[in-house]
Formats: sequence, C-alpha cells, structure tokens
Amino acid sequence: MSSNELPGREAMEFDVVIVGAGPAGLSAAIRLKQLAPECSVVIVEKGSEVGAHILSGAVIDPIGLDRLLPDWRNDSSHPLRQAVKTDRFYWLTKRRAVRLPNWLMPPLMSNHGNFVASLGDVCRWLATKAESLGVELYPGFAATEVLYGSRGEVLGVATGDMGVGKDGQPKPGFTRGIELRGKYTLFAEGARGSLTKAVIAKYALQQDHDPPKFGIGLKEVWQVPPEQHRAGLIQHTFGWPLDNHTGGGSFLYHWGDNLVSVGFVVHLNYHNPWISPFEELQRFKTHPLVRSTLAGGKRISYGARAITEGGWQSVPKLTFPGGALIGCAGGFVNVPRIKGSHNAMLSGILAAEKVAEALAARRAHDELEAYEASWRKSDIGRDLRKVRNVKPLWSRFGTIIGVGLGGLDMWTNTLGFSLFGTLSHGKPDNQTLEPASKFKPIAYPKPDGKLTFDRLSSVFLSGTNHEADQPVHLHVADLESEKRIEHDVFAGPSNRYCPAGVYEWVGEGADLKLVINAQNCVHCKTCDIKDPAGNITWTAPQGGGGPNYTQM
Ligand SMILES: Cc1cc2nc3c(=O)[nH]c(=O)nc-3n(C[C@H](O)[C@H](O)[C@H](O)COP(=O)(O)OP(=O)(O)OC[C@H]3O[C@@H](n4cnc5c(N)ncnc54)[C@H](O)[C@@H]3O)c2cc1C
Ligand code: SF4
Repeated sequence: MSSNELPGREAMEFDVVIVGAGPAGLSAAIRLKQLAPECSVVIVEKGSEVGAHILSGAVIDPIGLDRLLPDWRNDSSHPLRQAVKTDRFYWLTKRRAVRLPNWLMPPLMSNHGNFVASLGDVCRWLATKAESLGVELYPGFAATEVLYGSRGEVLGVATGDMGVGKDGQPKPGFTRGIELRGKYTLFAEGARGSLTKAVIAKYALQQDHDPPKFGIGLKEVWQVPPEQHRAGLIQHTFGWPLDNHTGGGSFLYHWGDNLVSVGFVVHLNYHNPWISPFEELQRFKTHPLVRSTLAGGKRISYGARAITEGGWQSVPKLTFPGGALIGCAGGFVNVPRIKGSHNAMLSGILAAEKVAEALAARRAHDELEAYEASWRKSDIGRDLRKVRNVKPLWSRFGTIIGVGLGGLDMWTNTLGFSLFGTLSHGKPDNQTLEPASKFKPIAYPKPDGKLTFDRLSSVFLSGTNHEADQPVHLHVADLESEKRIEHDVFAGPSNRYCPAGVYEWVGEGADLKLVINAQNCVHCKTCDIKDPAGNITWTAPQGGGGPNYTQM
C-alpha cells in the first residue's frame, strides 16, 4: 500500500511537543509546567517505558536538579542515594595502575558534591514529577517524522505507524501514527537523534561550527561480593588497553546494593578499523585494578550508547522556526568530566524558560532566538568552554602528550586564558579510519564467561527486543559502495564497532552480502556515526522496540 492509500493520521494539538524523555526533555517539561501551569506539554519516548533506553555512567553533578527542583534532597523518593566519597584517577599500563594525585587535577574535575546513580532511575523519578504537574507522557511511541509548515517552520512530529510487516505492508492490527502538533517542538533525543539529524541538515545548523564528534560508551553493571564494594568510590582511567593513538578511557563507580558500574568509552575518531570497542571493555576488565573488584561478582546488565564529545566547538545552532535542540541533541557533554546529564537538564530548563516567555507573548512557530543567544554565557557555556581543547589536543598529540597538554589547558582556562585559543576538531568521525591493510588484525582474548563475555550473551542482558516482522530500521543507502568501501577497504569495521553484533558480511565473491540482525540493535547510533561510506542511517523502529535497561 503506498502512503497516499493509507488512512489519514489523527492530529493532537499542544503548546509544546517534546521528543525524548531523557533528562533534557523531562527537565524542559517540568520547567514549562512550573512557569506556565496552564500550557499543554506532551513528551513522546521510544523506549517501552521512561528510562528503558537511558544509558549513562552515572556520576551526576546536581547543578541541574538544584535549579529544577531545589527541594529535591527532602524528597524521600529521589534516587540520588550515593554521594561520591573517594575520587581516583589512574593511568594504566598492561599490569600497572599509576595513580595521579588529585591535586594535579584542575578544580573542575573534582567530584566532591556529586552523586553516583542510575540515570535511567533519575528519569523514571523525573517522569513522576512531570506527570504530577500534568505533562502528558507517551512511552512506547517513537517520533519518526518532522512536520513542516508552508513557511518551512516546524509544526510538530508524527509517531510511526504500528503493525507494518517486513515487506512494508500493513498487517492485521495496523494503526497509523499520530500527529503531535505544537507551537514549539523541542528535540531531546540525545546523542545522534534521528529527527535531530534531519533538522540539523534542513536548517544547516552545523554550518559555521565544527562537525559533531562522538565516542561510544559500553557499560556493564555488576553486583560484587560485599568485601569488594566501597560505597561512593569512583575511578577513572586512561591508557591501556588502548594504544597511544586511540582516545578513550574507563569509569568504575561503586553504588547501590553492592553494585559497580563499569564502563569504557572509545573516541569514535579512531583510525584502526580492527578496533572493537566491545572487546576493549572486555580486555579492560582483566586489568588487576578492575579484576580484583569484579572477581566473584555477577554481571547483571549490559548496554552501549554514543556519547557526544564535540562540546563548545561542535554545538550547532540550536534554534530554527518552531523549535530547538536541547540536551545531547545539541551535544553538551563535558568530555574530561564524562558528564552531560547536568547540562542536558540546564539546557532543558533554559529552553523551557524561553518557550514560556514566547507563549506568554502569544508567539508560535517562530525562532527562540533568546535561547541560542544565551547558552554560551550560561553555566553550560562556562562548563564547556574551559575544556574545549582537551579532545582536540588528545586527537592531535596522542594520549601521553595530549592528555598532559589538555590538563595544562584546563588549568590555564581556570585562570582565565588558554595558550591554544580554540582548537578545531578536524574531520567527522566517519572519515578518520585508515585502510585495514595498514594495520594487523587485533587478536582479542577469548571470553572466559566469568569476567569476560561475548556480544550475544551481553545483548541478552540488555533486554533488547524488537517485533521481528517489521521493516529493518537500519537503512544502508547504497549496498554497492558499502561493499566497495566498508568491506573492501576497511575490512567491515561495522562488525567490530557495533556493540550488539548487528552487522555481518557473509559469503564470498559474488555471493558476499551484508546481513543486518536488526533485532539485536541497542540503539547506540554508532553505525550512523562511524560508517566510513556514510551510508548507514539509523531510524526509529516500531514504538517500544530496543533495549529494556534497568539500573543503567
Ligand atoms: C557511557 C556513558 C557514560 C556517561 N556517563 C555520564 C556520567 O557519569 N555523568 C553524566 O552526567 N553524564 C554522563 N553521560 C552523558 C549523559 O548520559 C548524557 O549527557 C545525557 O544522557 C543526555 O541527556 P539527554 O536527555 O539529552 O539524552 P538521552 O539521555 O540520550 O535521552 C534521550 C531520550 O530520547 C529518546 N528518544 C530518542 N529519539 C527518540 C525519538 N525519535 N522518539 C521518541 N523518543 C526518542 C530516547 O529513547 C531517550 O530516552 C554518559 C554517557 C554515556 C554514553
Ligand atoms: S546497529 Fe547501529 S545503533 Fe544498533 S547497536 Fe549496532 S551500531 Fe548501535
């Protein structure tokens, strides 16, 4: 059935439509209802429930929460139960861990006053606050289309049709998506949002800014024997198992009921196509520093998600007629701090304040210029500006020299100047791979099933589930160039960078084909970012599909 033979879509009208119930979207909704209780606000969320698709470290700087809900500490239901007590940084070699003294770190790196938690739990809790203020929240519905008006303004979004078969034809139980129309639409899809990407392209929002930059973060949650648990201890490392030319590092946070969140981030501007971020996490866990914490424990969760890393230089223009980008849709992660949830909340609050002013002035579908004009001078801008050269220095000079120079630059920025000005990030991440023939394939150790695991058993722990009979949500635009570039030149890196084993080249010669196991996709968005042929587009599958993260 072609789209013009389908029944029409129902439309619902709101003052504000928000796409994504992460910290940014929920904070925007709450602030809007605090300022203008009579305005109507809707949030659509593609996860089966709020929090199901949220993956973060997470050590949370409460600056955003303090501004949104100043009394949150007196609310007995809040999930920020574990204050950071001990903060350690290490440089790793294969067998040794060299502790860096805390006094060497610029003050902005201190985690004093921060909390260890699950960001998914924080979102579940914020969702109850939003709903109690009258926000309409629809989990299980992905926004799949931006609605534009005749003047090119954003009018809202449409959710995807449900009950479409693999062949693209309606099945029994088929229902059309719904149009959610708003005076303003806030895109809060997080890193590499699918609609955000379309809006950035339509309005050329990235023009005059560096390209967006990303990392992939993989995370496991472990329950460890009580004698190995140190409530409130957080550790960050860089160095081994990555080589000097590959950026990234680890985090390890003790919290909850003998829980340890262990994660590894690989910067997606890596060059060697044989690198597997998943295997780097597995290898990292075998380091004596980590093994001694996890030994005898049980892995209870696994997941992966792209993290924005471009910061100050890469944040695009955030506004366009009828809408704005908030949170990691704009890209507000402070890379050396590995924190973005506080800025996601602050940007949601800031945008909401500008929307509330616009609604009060009876405006609609115009540009929220005051939001774009104010973020760089706000706490978000102050946070990101001081660290703007850390990632470019790391990329140019490698880990050993680059991290040192980055530290020096953070210190001088703390004092109000930089020796480097503002360095550029260079190429987009999908243009940084070098041909596979320049490197030796990496022989990663086999999993032992106790400390280290394979990808399929890991995906099982993410609770990922997609309706099998639906169109593949990962679109490869041109299979011929995918073979010629991705396979022939770079030896199929998708097979290694995908943390869920979705992509496999099978067969040989004329029979060679790319198999896409889309049902395993954990929605990390890495393929959309890193495919060297620039062919892969991630689109939202039918609502509710994807991971079902708990404690992430
Ligand atoms: C491995 C890792 C570790 C991190 N560690 C920390 C940390 O320790 N501390 C910290 O502060 N920050 C950390 N961050 C960064 C932090 O998680 C992000 O900055 C933050 O989650 C961004 O919030 P957001 O609301 O913009 O987006 P997200 O948290 O990504 O939320 C976006 C929401 O939108 C939904 N969505 C997306 N597209 C659609 C659509 N089309 N339709 C409907 N719903 C949609 C998603 O399902 C999701 O629920 C980490 C990130 C990673 C990946
Ligand atoms: S298919 Fe793409 S978005 Fe899905 S898990 Fe793999 S890399 Fe991530």
